[in-house]
Amino acid sequence: MSNQNIKVALIGNPNTGKTSVFNLLTGLNQQVGNYPGITVEKKMGSLNLPLNCKATILDLPGTYSLNASSLDENVVIELLLNKNDLLFPDVAIVVTDVENLKRNLLLFTQIKDLEIPTILVINMADRMDVKGITLDIPFLEKQFKTRIALISSRKKIGIDNLKMMIVEYQKLSTQPCLNASSIDVPYFDSLRKAFPSQSLYKLWLVITQDVNFSKVDKNVVDTNNFAKPNSELKRLQQKETIKRYQFINDVLKTGRTVDTAKATDFQGKLDRILTHKIWGYVIFFAILLLIFQSIFDWSSYPMDFIDESFANLSAWASNNLPAGVLTDLISQGIIPGIGGVVIFIPQIAFLFLFISILEESGYMSRVVFLMDKIMRKFGLSGKSVVPLISGTACAIPAIMATRNIENWKERLITILVTPFTTCSARLPVYTILIALVIPKTRIFGIFNSQGLTLMFLYVVGFAAAITSAHILNKILKIKGKTFFVIEMPNYKLPIFKNVVINVLEKTKAFVLGAGKIILAISIILWFLASYGPGAAFNDVENSVKSNPQFENFSDEEYDSKISSEKLENSYIGLMGHAIEPVISPLGYDWKIGIALITSFAAREVFVGTLATIYSVGDADNEDTIKNKMDAEVDAETGKKIFDFPTGVSLLLFYAFAMQCAGTLAITKKETNSWKWPVIQLVFMTGLAYCVALIAYQILK
Ligand code: GDP
Repeated sequence: MSNQNIKVALIGNPNTGKTSVFNLLTGLNQQVGNYPGITVEKKMGSLNLPLNCKATILDLPGTYSLNASSLDENVVIELLLNKNDLLFPDVAIVVTDVENLKRNLLLFTQIKDLEIPTILVINMADRMDVKGITLDIPFLEKQFKTRIALISSRKKIGIDNLKMMIVEYQKLSTQPCLNASSIDVPYFDSLRKAFPSQSLYKLWLVITQDVNFSKVDKNVVDTNNFAKPNSELKRLQQKETIKRYQFINDVLKTGRTVDTAKATDFQGKLDRILTHKIWGYVIFFAILLLIFQSIFDWSSYPMDFIDESFANLSAWASNNLPAGVLTDLISQGIIPGIGGVVIFIPQIAFLFLFISILEESGYMSRVVFLMDKIMRKFGLSGKSVVPLISGTACAIPAIMATRNIENWKERLITILVTPFTTCSARLPVYTILIALVIPKTRIFGIFNSQGLTLMFLYVVGFAAAITSAHILNKILKIKGKTFFVIEMPNYKLPIFKNVVINVLEKTKAFVLGAGKIILAISIILWFLASYGPGAAFNDVENSVKSNPQFENFSDEEYDSKISSEKLENSYIGLMGHAIEPVISPLGYDWKIGIALITSFAAREVFVGTLATIYSVGDADNEDTIKNKMDAEVDAETGKKIFDFPTGVSLLLFYAFAMQCAGTLAITKKETNSWKWPVIQLVFMTGLAYCVALIAYQILK
């Protein structure tokens, strides 16, 4: 048996601790991908077992039963029915929670009936004492016709035993534990006759499930007159479920005792407060406030450090590498490009740290429960709360956080509207524009008008998200069963390893997924800004130096003047000029046009671009940029460029426009099609254009 690689499939209801078991078994030997053609996440891991064996574990999505009602459940069924699938398991492990055995065992009995060797894991054994539970394992093993591993992934108990069971999987019985055919005996008899070599329960699933079976040919079964009308199938399915629960109840009656007198339950009391119709919200918003405060406070240090390090690295590269195109590309394109990705890591990591702690502790399920009713009115789900909150840091991980929304329509709407929430990349843009055009006054003697404007922009972003969700809910014709099982797992201390792995995974996905796009666009933009057509671009240096107007310029002033003139004559400068007719009704000139184009990579690039255009030598000094912008006047009319109407129009444009290539990339990845990011881009930028246009035309 040595050197064998055993293929294991990990299956279980959500919240049974399946992920914890997976993490415990595989540690960091995990790879995350997607199932081909769909957006469901595929997690695999490997581990070494006793007796020189190895195993590859596939962590299947959390599933309630084999009666598919979501994409995730389809994945599980398709895999378990396709023996030819490369991932088809040698042994299945069904994870259950000792406190929810009755509900969790439904899935186990279904899997067992597929006649695959199946180990039953009963997790959270550490909770047995407080809940007064005892189990008769030998009895249960006999009834369920398999081996049972009683474990605690939190206390790391029973894992070696489980590993040994995997090694010895060939000894497991493949007999079904329940005879499902008794729900319609004549029908199942004829099925058995027609397909003698197939597992009966498998055939039944092929008939009842509306899943796309490419390999188990549904037609073969259907054309043999085994198809039944839908209503009849539903009736039989219900009968099957009832039968399964009866069986489970009977077994548990003898195999499990629960002595409630011994239970020490504190959960109920806590739940009453945390889901209270007033206190529930108060506590939730207080926690949110605390989280945001900490994210902004804590991440500013590493962010400043990253910013400075990349600026230094870039300066070092341009001073020390041999002068030339390659050095320019490295120092002005690649290094700032990577810096633009890395700078978001602290916020993303902190945010996911908090979110995984809240999820792990069981609190997030209470929030989902609390918010579900309100969110549903807008076509969202209670579970959209997490992405919408995350969007205030960065839409990219926020969109990734939509993965646990089961209903596809609700998930899609959440993905599409999340980028409206005010992300941190908008802040530098808002800060400088507000300082420029919003007069510093006090309203009612207390409120600072500039602060109020910033708050207003946050509200506008959130309102745009909710309103668009409502509209999308009306327009989108996507059918999907709303299947909301409110999971109220017990409160627990978060498992450190789970939190760390989750944070690492999310950060890695951001860096690899969105990072590539941001970097690629930064390089393209560098090229477009560093090169231009014809003599005008090439002569910039000479014409600046020979211009008597600039005679008294210092070296630094010369350099920044040259950069600014070069930019004007570069490809991107020409593009800025080209879009001027389209953007002038919004109050923007071609220089702002350039900044709009460059900040498509990421919004915060806006400020840096303006610094270059207005030849600010020290681009890090916001006051200098602000003064330059303030002094900018229209060459013909002498009117200030950044006056109140233009400023407001720009603020609103950035509030709504989809100025973020990384977000588009992640939307493409999560929806598996270009259709949705394109719709997102057109809708958001279209809306931004209209709002900015109206604002400017009214105010000017
Ligand atoms: P999944 O949804 O099935 O993947 O479950 P997770 O692994 O995310 O775990 C759900 C919750 O159960 C988390 O809060 C875990 O910390 C907790 N948990 C996991 N294993 C154990 C265990 O053995 N004992 C206890 N008390 N809690 C556990």
